[in-house]
Order: sequence, then structure tokens, then C-alpha cells
Amino acid sequence: MIPDLAALQALGAAQQPTYPDPQAVDTAVAKLRGFPPLVFAGECDELKDKIAAVGRGESFLLAGGDCAEVFSQVNADNVRNKLRVLLQMAVVLTYAGSLPVVKMGRLAGQYAKPRSSDTETRDGVTLPAYRGDAVNGFEFTEESRIPDPQRLVEVYHASAATLNLIRAFTNGGYADLRQVHTWNTDFVRESPFAQRYEQMANEIEKALEFMQAIGADPDEFHRVDFYSSHEALVLPYEHAMTRIDSRTNDPYNVSGHFLWIGERTRQLDGAHIEYFKHLSNPIGCKVGPSATPDDVLGLANALNPKNEEGRLTLITRFGAGKIRDVLPPLVEKVRAEGVNVTWVTDPMHGNTFEASTGFKTRRFTDVLDEVQGFFDVHRALGTVPGGMMVEMTGDDVTEIVGGGEEIDEHGLAHRYESVVDPRLNRVQSLELAFLVAEMLRR
Ligand code: PEP
Ligand code: MN
Repeated sequence: MIPDLAALQALGAAQQPTYPDPQAVDTAVAKLRGFPPLVFAGECDELKDKIAAVGRGESFLLAGGDCAEVFSQVNADNVRNKLRVLLQMAVVLTYAGSLPVVKMGRLAGQYAKPRSSDTETRDGVTLPAYRGDAVNGFEFTEESRIPDPQRLVEVYHASAATLNLIRAFTNGGYADLRQVHTWNTDFVRESPFAQRYEQMANEIEKALEFMQAIGADPDEFHRVDFYSSHEALVLPYEHAMTRIDSRTNDPYNVSGHFLWIGERTRQLDGAHIEYFKHLSNPIGCKVGPSATPDDVLGLANALNPKNEEGRLTLITRFGAGKIRDVLPPLVEKVRAEGVNVTWVTDPMHGNTFEASTGFKTRRFTDVLDEVQGFFDVHRALGTVPGGMMVEMTGDDVTEIVGGGEEIDEHGLAHRYESVVDPRLNRVQSLELAFLVAEMLRR
């Protein structure tokens, strides 16, 4: 039995909003409990099986999307652009690895953010920190920063609209493989590194022509499976969106297919771990550089006591300079104990710094190097580098320095739109896919 919300919160939940009006929280939670599911338990099971295959090295997981979605960007252009880039990346990775790619968005629910500080100070004024559109407003005014539980209801509607659009796009012809490949060849033609990427694009072209010549036209050429994921952070929302599956009597979080626990809320005796223990979804846990091999074993025992394949994904985020030292002892311990986990790299969160111009940024080369380190470590140990989770967008923003367009610290000001962490733009995301493809194919 899943504990009720009050019992969970009594365990001490990190990173929760302090709502001024508890009754308004109850009202929002009651509304949410009555809403229909956004995803189905059967889809979550299907994803769990696919992640199990990722863990065995039979597939690769690509997860991407905003650090923080915002309500004002729930529109067709934004969602379509993000989906398009993810599909483009997936085609390149699929070809290079000769493996199916499991496609997952950090979207349709990624609205709540843990923060390292409770407050933010600008020009001598201190206000509560922005915790994502699920909690308060980004605008730097006292009123906007007050947590409002009605926003949780808005998260539901924004997620429903996003997921509806994604389902329509992925099943309604937009994900057609030939079309996605045409977008990739356009990208390669315009890239300053055209020569480096051309060979792969040409090989894909030849493979598609061959398939056409022999009359092969499987359903997979015209539609894709796409899954949603987010950090399950704000417990009143996540708990309200947890339902008992009528087939199995097991609880599922039906607000997203895959949920993860953040680096700041993974305390073994905390409310988030307790909540996640009861979910039947495939789940993830972020693991940062302070984690010891015993911490990781503790997480696996708590979150996956039956040692099921596909149940638990560890998403490591160490930083390019640390991964080659920090990851091996964790992987070795997990392997020695026979514990099933799927290893995924998050090459973003260990590589954040403040640019001289004041923007929070990352270097493209560091992101790439952390992915390379992830492959190097797993290849050396004979274990499986299962996938990557990146913060990206389909738009031409300037939030990360480097990449073929050579955005420098001054260029960041040109179009910096992220409300929390910097994202790879369209071109940087595609470059990353082509470069990771080279790692996958050796
Ligand atoms: C995130 O994924 O946006 C995030 C906050 O990550 P972490 O919990 O690893 O810091
Ligand atoms: Mn982030």
C-alpha cells in the first residue's frame, strides 16, 4: 500500500514549496485526483521492457528536453521543434549503433525544479527562488515568487496538451523515417563540419534506398514510440497522479512514463525514495560525484528490491573532469553484487559554470567529453553504456558555448531563454548526435 500524502511528507521531503495556504493545496490535489491518466500503465510496462533491453546493450536510450518546461512555451512550434531534433538525433544513433533507440522526452511534466538556494538576490533585493512553473512565477517580484498550488492543476493541463501533440505527431506521419533523414541531410549540408558528418548521412541514404528497392516498408518507418519523463519532485502533484492499475492492483504514476529522483532528493530515508519504492513505473535516480559505491547499492536495494531488469536507471552526472575517476568504482561494485541497473549519462549537470558575462552555461566540449568518458569507462569494464539524457531544445538559442557555430561567452546574450539551466540548441544537439554516433559504432 502506498502511504498517504501526509505520511509521506512526515518523513521529511526535501525541496518542497512552502505554500501559504494549505487548504488551497488540498483543493488542487482533490482536483488532480479526479483527472484522467496522462499515460497508461501498459505503456509504462512496455517502456520498462525496453529499458531492460537498454541495460543489456540491445538498445540505446536517448532522453532529451528542457531543464524546465514553461507554460508560455506550450505551443505547436516549440513542441514540434524539440520532437523533430530528438527524432533526427535518434536516426543517426540508430544507424551508427545498429541498435534500436528508445526515445524519451524530458517533457509533458518537467515543470518543477530543485534549487541549491531557497532565495535569489538581484540588485540587493532577496526573494524566494524560482522553483519551476509548477510552483511559482519566474518574474522577479514578491507576488510572482509566492508558491501557488493552482499551478499544479496547470501542470496537468499543460502536460496533457503537450502529450496530445506528441502522440499526434509521432503517429500521424511527422515521424516518417525518410522525412527525418531529409532533415538530417539538410543539416549536414549547412554544417561547417559537413565533411565529418557526410559519410554517415550518405550511408543512411544508401540503406534507405536499399530498403526501398527491395520493397521493405515496415510500420516502424512511419511511426515511432515516444515516452515522457520528468523529475517527480513536488509530492502533492505526484501523489495525486498516482493510481492503482485495474489489471494488476499496482500503483503507477500516470503523469509520465518514466519518473526520476533528483540528486538533491535521493536521501535513503527521505520521502521521495519512500514514494518511489511503491511505483511500478520504470524509474531513474540521478547520481552525482559524492555518491559512494555503498550509496549506489543502497539506492538499488531500496528502489529495486526484486532486482528487476529495466526498473532502475542510474543517471550519472559527474562532470567531464571527474567521470573517468568516479564512475568505475560504482560500476564495479554494482557488477560484483549482480545488481541490475541501466547506466545512462547526463553530461550536463556536472559541467555548469557561470560565464564572465554572468550567464549560467556549459561548454559543448565538456558535454561531449563526459559522454566520451562514459563510453570509455564502460568499454574498459565490459559493461553497458546504455544511453544519455541531455538538456536541449529545437530552437536556435545561445545558452551553451562552443559547437560548430562557435558561440562564445559574449554570444550567450544573443538568445538566452532558459529559465534554469542552459540547453543545447538545435545545431549543437545534432552535432552531439553525430559525434556520439562515432562513439557508438566502434
Ligand atoms: C535536472 O535534471 O535538471 C537536475 C536538476 O538534475 P540533478 O538533480 O542531477 O541536479
Ligand atoms: Mn537542469
